[in-house]
Amino acid sequence: MAELRFDGRVAIVTGAGGGLGRSHALTLAARGAKVVVNDLGGSAHGDGQSASAADKVVEEIRALGGEAVANYDSVENGQAIVQSALDAFGTVDIVINNAGILRDVSFQKMTQADWDIVQRVHLNGSMSVSHAAWPIMREKGYGRIVMTTSAAGIYGNFGQANYCAAKLGILGLAHCLAEEGRGKNIFVNTIAPIAASRLTETIMPPALLENLKPEAVSPLVAWLCHEECEETKGLFEVGAGFIAKLRWERTAGHAFPLGRAFNMDDVARKWGAVTDFSESTHPTNTNEALAPILSAVSNPSLGG
Ligand code: NAD
Repeated sequence: MAELRFDGRVAIVTGAGGGLGRSHALTLAARGAKVVVNDLGGSAHGDGQSASAADKVVEEIRALGGEAVANYDSVENGQAIVQSALDAFGTVDIVINNAGILRDVSFQKMTQADWDIVQRVHLNGSMSVSHAAWPIMREKGYGRIVMTTSAAGIYGNFGQANYCAAKLGILGLAHCLAEEGRGKNIFVNTIAPIAASRLTETIMPPALLENLKPEAVSPLVAWLCHEECEETKGLFEVGAGFIAKLRWERTAGHAFPLGRAFNMDDVARKWGAVTDFSESTHPTNTNEALAPILSAVSNPSLGG
Protein backbone atom coordinates (compact mmCIF):
# COMPACT_ATOMS: atom_id res chain seq x y z
CA MET A 1 0.00 0.00 0.00
CA ALA A 2 1.38 3.43 -0.98
CA GLU A 3 2.08 5.91 1.82
CA LEU A 4 -1.00 8.05 2.57
CA ARG A 5 -0.19 11.70 1.93
CA PHE A 6 -1.66 15.19 2.28
CA ASP A 7 0.00 16.92 -0.68
CA GLY A 8 -2.05 19.98 -1.68
CA ARG A 9 -4.08 19.89 1.54
CA VAL A 10 -4.17 22.77 4.03
CA ALA A 11 -4.57 21.97 7.71
CA ILE A 12 -5.21 24.13 10.76
CA VAL A 13 -4.04 22.61 14.02
CA THR A 14 -5.07 24.60 17.09
CA GLY A 15 -2.92 24.60 20.19
CA ALA A 16 -0.10 23.21 18.06
CA GLY A 17 2.69 24.96 19.96
CA GLY A 18 3.21 21.95 22.24
CA GLY A 19 1.95 18.56 23.38
CA LEU A 20 -0.51 16.72 21.15
CA GLY A 21 -1.09 19.63 18.74
CA ARG A 22 2.61 19.93 17.94
CA SER A 23 2.75 16.21 17.21
CA HIS A 24 -0.35 16.37 14.97
CA ALA A 25 1.12 19.35 13.06
CA LEU A 26 4.48 17.63 12.54
CA THR A 27 2.78 14.43 11.42
CA LEU A 28 0.58 16.13 8.81
CA ALA A 29 3.44 18.34 7.56
CA ALA A 30 5.73 15.33 7.20
CA ARG A 31 3.11 13.83 4.84
CA GLY A 32 2.92 16.96 2.67
CA ALA A 33 0.17 19.09 4.29
CA LYS A 34 0.58 22.86 4.54
CA VAL A 35 -0.06 23.61 8.18
CA VAL A 36 -1.28 26.61 10.15
CA VAL A 37 0.31 26.16 13.56
CA ASN A 38 -2.04 28.00 15.88
CA ASP A 39 -1.11 28.66 19.49
CA LEU A 40 -1.90 31.47 21.88
CA GLY A 41 1.20 30.54 23.85
CA GLY A 42 -0.31 31.02 27.33
CA SER A 43 -0.01 28.93 30.47
CA ALA A 44 -1.77 25.62 31.08
CA HIS A 45 -4.28 27.66 33.13
CA GLY A 46 -5.00 29.96 30.20
CA ASP A 47 -3.04 32.99 31.46
CA GLY A 48 -0.78 35.12 29.24
CA GLN A 49 0.27 34.68 25.65
CA SER A 50 3.40 34.45 23.50
CA ALA A 51 4.37 33.85 19.89
CA SER A 52 7.24 31.56 20.76
CA ALA A 53 5.32 28.26 21.06
CA ALA A 54 3.84 28.42 17.55
CA ASP A 55 7.03 29.90 16.05
CA LYS A 56 9.13 27.04 17.39
CA VAL A 57 6.93 24.38 15.82
CA VAL A 58 6.84 26.25 12.50
CA GLU A 59 10.66 26.29 12.57
CA GLU A 60 10.70 22.55 13.31
CA ILE A 61 8.39 21.83 10.37
CA ARG A 62 10.39 24.03 8.00
CA ALA A 63 13.67 22.48 9.15
CA LEU A 64 12.25 19.10 8.11
CA GLY A 65 11.36 20.48 4.67
CA GLY A 66 7.65 21.05 5.39
CA GLU A 67 5.41 24.09 4.92
CA ALA A 68 3.88 25.91 7.84
CA VAL A 69 2.87 29.34 9.13
CA ALA A 70 2.24 30.48 12.67
CA ASN A 71 -0.95 31.99 14.04
CA TYR A 72 -1.16 33.39 17.57
CA ASP A 73 -4.89 34.10 17.93
CA SER A 74 -7.03 32.53 20.59
CA VAL A 75 -9.26 29.79 19.24
CA GLU A 76 -12.16 31.97 20.37
CA ASN A 77 -11.35 34.01 17.25
CA GLY A 78 -11.72 31.28 14.64
CA GLN A 79 -12.18 33.74 11.80
CA ALA A 80 -8.67 35.15 12.28
CA ILE A 81 -7.15 31.64 12.33
CA VAL A 82 -8.95 30.61 9.15
CA GLN A 83 -7.90 33.92 7.59
CA SER A 84 -4.25 32.95 8.27
CA ALA A 85 -4.82 29.75 6.29
CA LEU A 86 -6.44 31.68 3.44
CA ASP A 87 -3.68 34.32 3.39
CA ALA A 88 -0.85 31.79 3.41
CA PHE A 89 -2.30 28.85 1.48
CA GLY A 90 -5.58 29.99 -0.13
CA THR A 91 -7.95 27.44 1.46
CA VAL A 92 -8.56 25.06 4.36
CA ASP A 93 -9.22 21.32 4.08
CA ILE A 94 -8.55 20.06 7.60
CA VAL A 95 -9.26 21.47 11.06
CA ILE A 96 -7.89 19.80 14.15
CA ASN A 97 -9.49 21.38 17.22
CA ASN A 98 -6.96 20.58 19.90
CA ALA A 99 -6.22 23.73 21.95
CA GLY A 100 -7.01 23.39 25.61
CA ILE A 101 -6.42 24.55 29.16
CA LEU A 102 -7.28 23.26 32.61
CA ARG A 103 -8.82 25.02 35.62
CA ASP A 104 -9.24 21.97 37.85
CA VAL A 105 -11.09 22.64 41.08
CA SER A 106 -13.86 20.86 42.99
CA PHE A 107 -17.38 21.94 42.02
CA GLN A 108 -17.85 23.34 45.54
CA LYS A 109 -14.94 25.74 45.05
CA MET A 110 -15.29 26.43 41.33
CA THR A 111 -15.89 30.07 40.41
CA GLN A 112 -17.89 31.39 37.48
CA ALA A 113 -14.57 32.53 35.97
CA ASP A 114 -13.17 28.96 36.21
CA TRP A 115 -16.25 27.74 34.36
CA ASP A 116 -16.33 30.49 31.73
CA ILE A 117 -12.72 30.36 30.56
CA VAL A 118 -12.81 26.59 30.09
CA GLN A 119 -16.04 26.77 28.06
CA ARG A 120 -14.59 29.63 26.02
CA VAL A 121 -11.37 27.89 25.06
CA HIS A 122 -12.62 24.32 24.58
CA LEU A 123 -16.25 24.53 23.48
CA ASN A 124 -16.52 28.02 21.98
CA GLY A 125 -13.04 27.67 20.46
CA SER A 126 -13.87 24.36 18.73
CA MET A 127 -17.09 25.92 17.44
CA SER A 128 -15.45 29.18 16.34
CA VAL A 129 -12.64 27.65 14.25
CA SER A 130 -14.98 25.01 12.73
CA HIS A 131 -17.63 27.66 12.01
CA ALA A 132 -15.15 29.88 10.17
CA ALA A 133 -13.87 26.94 8.10
CA TRP A 134 -17.33 25.46 7.45
CA PRO A 135 -18.45 27.67 4.49
CA ILE A 136 -15.12 27.02 2.75
CA MET A 137 -15.45 23.26 3.22
CA ARG A 138 -19.09 23.27 2.08
CA GLU A 139 -18.24 25.31 -0.98
CA LYS A 140 -15.45 22.94 -2.04
CA GLY A 141 -17.35 19.80 -1.03
CA TYR A 142 -14.49 18.59 1.11
CA GLY A 143 -13.48 18.81 4.72
CA ARG A 144 -12.10 16.83 7.62
CA ILE A 145 -12.56 17.99 11.21
CA VAL A 146 -11.16 16.29 14.30
CA MET A 147 -12.40 17.36 17.72
CA THR A 148 -10.64 16.62 20.99
CA THR A 149 -12.70 15.43 23.92
CA SER A 150 -11.47 13.61 27.01
CA ALA A 151 -12.11 10.51 29.09
CA ALA A 152 -12.91 12.99 31.87
CA GLY A 153 -15.86 14.27 29.84
CA ILE A 154 -17.03 10.83 28.77
CA TYR A 155 -16.78 9.14 32.14
CA GLY A 156 -16.71 12.06 34.60
CA ASN A 157 -13.83 13.05 36.85
CA PHE A 158 -13.53 14.65 40.27
CA GLY A 159 -12.55 18.33 40.17
CA GLN A 160 -13.22 18.87 36.48
CA ALA A 161 -16.86 19.98 36.21
CA ASN A 162 -15.94 22.85 33.87
CA TYR A 163 -13.69 20.67 31.71
CA CYS A 164 -16.03 17.64 31.65
CA ALA A 165 -18.95 19.80 30.53
CA ALA A 166 -16.93 21.57 27.83
CA LYS A 167 -15.42 18.33 26.56
CA LEU A 168 -18.74 16.54 26.23
CA GLY A 169 -20.19 19.69 24.67
CA ILE A 170 -17.52 19.30 21.99
CA LEU A 171 -18.74 15.75 21.33
CA GLY A 172 -22.30 17.04 20.90
CA LEU A 173 -21.02 19.67 18.48
CA ALA A 174 -19.12 16.99 16.54
CA HIS A 175 -22.19 14.76 16.30
CA CYS A 176 -24.27 17.59 14.85
CA LEU A 177 -21.56 18.73 12.42
CA ALA A 178 -21.10 15.13 11.27
CA GLU A 179 -24.80 15.01 10.35
CA GLU A 180 -24.72 18.44 8.66
CA GLY A 181 -21.47 17.69 6.83
CA ARG A 182 -22.22 14.12 5.68
CA GLY A 183 -23.75 15.12 2.33
CA LYS A 184 -20.95 17.60 1.62
CA ASN A 185 -18.04 15.22 2.13
CA ILE A 186 -17.19 16.95 5.42
CA PHE A 187 -16.40 14.27 7.98
CA VAL A 188 -16.19 15.02 11.67
CA ASN A 189 -14.68 12.72 14.27
CA THR A 190 -13.67 13.04 17.90
CA ILE A 191 -10.74 11.66 19.84
CA ALA A 192 -10.34 11.16 23.56
CA PRO A 193 -6.54 11.03 23.82
CA ILE A 194 -4.16 10.21 26.61
CA ALA A 195 -0.60 11.46 26.38
CA ALA A 196 2.22 13.02 28.34
CA SER A 197 2.00 16.82 28.13
CA ARG A 198 2.10 19.78 30.45
CA LEU A 199 -1.60 19.11 31.16
CA THR A 200 -0.86 15.61 32.48
CA GLU A 201 2.70 15.92 33.85
CA THR A 202 1.47 16.97 37.30
CA ILE A 203 -1.22 14.29 37.65
CA MET A 204 0.52 11.14 36.36
CA PRO A 205 3.66 9.35 37.58
CA PRO A 206 6.82 9.89 35.43
CA ALA A 207 7.16 6.16 34.61
CA LEU A 208 3.68 6.17 33.09
CA LEU A 209 4.24 9.47 31.25
CA GLU A 210 7.38 8.08 29.61
CA ASN A 211 5.24 5.60 27.71
CA LEU A 212 2.48 8.01 26.76
CA LYS A 213 3.96 9.80 23.77
CA PRO A 214 1.81 12.32 21.85
CA GLU A 215 3.28 10.68 18.73
CA ALA A 216 1.17 7.60 19.53
CA VAL A 217 -2.03 9.66 19.15
CA SER A 218 -1.24 11.51 15.91
CA PRO A 219 -1.42 8.55 13.47
CA LEU A 220 -5.13 8.11 14.27
CA VAL A 221 -5.72 11.86 13.93
CA ALA A 222 -3.88 11.89 10.58
CA TRP A 223 -5.94 8.95 9.29
CA LEU A 224 -9.20 10.64 10.33
CA CYS A 225 -8.04 13.71 8.36
CA HIS A 226 -7.22 11.77 5.21
CA GLU A 227 -9.37 11.87 2.08
CA GLU A 228 -9.52 8.06 1.96
CA CYS A 229 -10.98 7.85 5.46
CA GLU A 230 -14.78 7.79 5.25
CA GLU A 231 -15.36 7.54 8.98
CA THR A 232 -17.63 10.24 10.40
CA LYS A 233 -19.37 10.83 13.74
CA GLY A 234 -16.87 8.48 15.35
CA LEU A 235 -15.51 8.71 18.87
CA PHE A 236 -12.15 7.08 19.56
CA GLU A 237 -10.09 6.50 22.67
CA VAL A 238 -6.41 6.64 21.83
CA GLY A 239 -3.10 6.48 23.67
CA ALA A 240 0.17 4.52 23.87
CA GLY A 241 -0.69 2.66 20.67
CA PHE A 242 -4.19 1.66 21.78
CA ILE A 243 -7.01 2.83 19.49
CA ALA A 244 -10.65 1.89 20.06
CA LYS A 245 -14.06 3.14 18.98
CA LEU A 246 -16.85 3.98 21.42
CA ARG A 247 -20.62 4.02 20.84
CA TRP A 248 -23.83 4.50 22.75
CA GLU A 249 -25.53 1.47 24.23
CA ARG A 250 -29.19 1.32 25.26
CA THR A 251 -31.05 -1.36 27.17
CA ALA A 252 -34.07 -3.04 25.59
CA GLY A 253 -35.97 -1.04 28.19
CA HIS A 254 -39.59 -1.36 29.19
CA ALA A 255 -42.65 0.15 27.46
CA PHE A 256 -45.67 0.83 29.64
CA PRO A 257 -48.93 0.39 27.67
CA LEU A 258 -50.08 3.56 25.96
CA GLY A 259 -53.12 5.30 27.35
CA ARG A 260 -52.87 3.65 30.75
CA ALA A 261 -51.46 5.82 33.52
CA PHE A 262 -48.38 4.53 35.31
CA ASN A 263 -46.67 5.87 38.36
CA MET A 264 -43.44 5.84 40.29
CA ASP A 265 -44.18 2.44 41.86
CA ASP A 266 -44.58 0.93 38.39
CA VAL A 267 -41.21 2.43 37.37
CA ALA A 268 -39.61 0.96 40.49
CA ARG A 269 -41.13 -2.47 39.68
CA LYS A 270 -39.77 -2.41 36.14
CA TRP A 271 -36.35 -1.00 37.09
CA GLY A 272 -34.64 -4.32 36.33
CA ALA A 273 -35.86 -4.23 32.71
CA VAL A 274 -35.09 -0.52 32.31
CA THR A 275 -31.47 -1.04 33.37
CA ASP A 276 -30.78 -4.53 31.97
CA PHE A 277 -28.17 -4.36 29.19
CA SER A 278 -28.42 -8.06 28.24
CA GLU A 279 -30.44 -7.26 25.09
CA SER A 280 -29.05 -3.85 24.31
CA THR A 281 -29.03 -1.88 21.06
CA HIS A 282 -26.68 0.78 19.74
CA PRO A 283 -28.63 3.70 18.27
CA THR A 284 -26.50 5.86 15.97
CA ASN A 285 -28.93 8.69 15.18
CA THR A 286 -32.11 10.30 16.45
CA ASN A 287 -34.31 8.19 14.12
CA GLU A 288 -32.91 4.97 15.53
CA ALA A 289 -33.13 6.40 19.03
CA LEU A 290 -36.81 7.34 18.65
CA ALA A 291 -37.79 4.05 16.94
CA PRO A 292 -39.10 2.21 20.04
CA ILE A 293 -41.10 5.23 21.14
CA LEU A 294 -42.61 5.71 17.68
CA SER A 295 -43.33 1.99 17.49
CA ALA A 296 -45.12 2.15 20.85
CA VAL A 297 -47.18 5.10 19.62
CA SER A 298 -48.19 3.33 16.39
CA ASN A 299 -48.88 -0.03 18.12
CA PRO A 300 -50.82 0.90 21.26
CA SER A 301 -51.38 -2.77 22.10
CA LEU A 302 -47.64 -3.29 22.70
CA GLY A 303 -46.08 -2.96 26.11
CA GLY A 304 -46.93 -4.41 29.46
P1 NAD B 1 -0.83 21.19 26.03
O1 NAD B 1 -1.03 22.19 27.12
O2 NAD B 1 0.53 20.69 25.78
O3 NAD B 1 -1.40 21.75 24.66
C1 NAD B 1 -2.48 22.64 24.57
C2 NAD B 1 -2.05 23.82 23.71
O4 NAD B 1 -3.18 24.67 23.51
C3 NAD B 1 -0.97 24.67 24.39
O5 NAD B 1 0.16 24.79 23.54
C4 NAD B 1 -1.67 26.00 24.63
O6 NAD B 1 -0.80 27.13 24.52
C5 NAD B 1 -2.74 26.00 23.56
N1 NAD B 1 -3.85 26.88 23.89
C6 NAD B 1 -4.46 27.02 25.09
N2 NAD B 1 -5.44 27.93 25.00
C7 NAD B 1 -5.45 28.36 23.72
C8 NAD B 1 -6.25 29.30 23.02
N3 NAD B 1 -7.23 29.98 23.64
N4 NAD B 1 -6.03 29.50 21.72
C9 NAD B 1 -5.02 28.84 21.08
N5 NAD B 1 -4.21 27.95 21.71
C10 NAD B 1 -4.44 27.71 23.01
O7 NAD B 1 -1.82 19.98 26.36
P2 NAD B 1 -2.18 18.63 25.56
O8 NAD B 1 -2.24 17.56 26.57
O9 NAD B 1 -1.36 18.46 24.36
O10 NAD B 1 -3.71 18.93 25.18
C11 NAD B 1 -4.21 18.97 23.87
C12 NAD B 1 -5.69 18.66 23.90
O11 NAD B 1 -5.90 17.31 24.28
C13 NAD B 1 -6.50 19.51 24.87
O12 NAD B 1 -7.74 19.84 24.29
C14 NAD B 1 -6.71 18.60 26.04
O13 NAD B 1 -7.85 18.93 26.80
C15 NAD B 1 -6.86 17.27 25.33
N6 NAD B 1 -6.61 16.10 26.16
C16 NAD B 1 -5.35 15.78 26.52
C17 NAD B 1 -5.14 14.65 27.29
C18 NAD B 1 -3.76 14.19 27.67
O14 NAD B 1 -3.65 13.09 28.23
N7 NAD B 1 -2.73 14.97 27.37
C19 NAD B 1 -6.23 13.88 27.73
C20 NAD B 1 -7.50 14.23 27.34
C21 NAD B 1 -7.68 15.36 26.55
